[in-house]
Amino acid sequence: MTERNYTTVNPCVMCQPMGSVMAFKGIESSMVLMHGSQGCSTYMRLHLSHHFREPVDIASTSLSERGAVYGGSENLKKGLRNVITRYHPKVIGVTTTCLAETIGDDVGRILTEFREEDKNADDVHIISVSTPSYEDSHTTGFIKAVDAIVRHFTEYGMGNDIFNNKLNVVLGEHIAPEDTRELKRILTAIIGLRSFIFLPDASETFDAPMTGKVEKIFPGGTPLSDIIYMKNCAASIGLGITSDNRAVDHLETKYNVPA
Ligand code: SF4
Repeated sequence: MTERNYTTVNPCVMCQPMGSVMAFKGIESSMVLMHGSQGCSTYMRLHLSHHFREPVDIASTSLSERGAVYGGSENLKKGLRNVITRYHPKVIGVTTTCLAETIGDDVGRILTEFREEDKNADDVHIISVSTPSYEDSHTTGFIKAVDAIVRHFTEYGMGNDIFNNKLNVVLGEHIAPEDTRELKRILTAIIGLRSFIFLPDASETFDAPMTGKVEKIFPGGTPLSDIIYMKNCAASIGLGITSDNRAVDHLETKYNVPA
């Protein structure tokens, strides 16, 4: 048997936005727009599709020399318009790359301007995550994105007082789609089918069956309606190899959901 060297099999584990992409791909009708140069999204598409053996779409704002000098506001707004028109997603995850972070683009301000200018964006949830890759790793990118998703939807202003007695299960980035499916099967057998909320759930989006149909966004992922109600659950479990599960901490400190 050939001995494998994992530093060469998975070389881009140090890339923070890659973790963010993995988190967004586990929620319903979600598309990722990477704010930075085109090479980053190409690299991640290639790496993720090699790893999961699935086609992976990641849009890019394609910052060039001009954007690097004058700022990427124009590219980001154009990228958002293109993603909305072509993919019709319910959620767009805007994740930054080394370049966007180095030039110091104020993504929050650009997104506020975009919402004011473009009424087509009213029905789309746009969630930004700051993921400079010269610090931390894909693990942190995943943790930050899941935290941003939970904060966004729990503050969405619905269902504050409807206790649902469910269990939140917030996964770590190392849990494979197959493991997710098995964990869901085990939990269904123990506490029942609708007694838990899994986030993110890439068991179908990163492990889709061959249907012969080309899907722009794969069906599956955690339903948005479930994420909204995570704040009303009975408890949360964070699964992962790091103890830094920010989403679980946030649900505990802000909504008193025991972790
Ligand atoms: S430049 Fe940064 S964000 Fe882009 S692929 Fe490399 S490490 Fe990742």
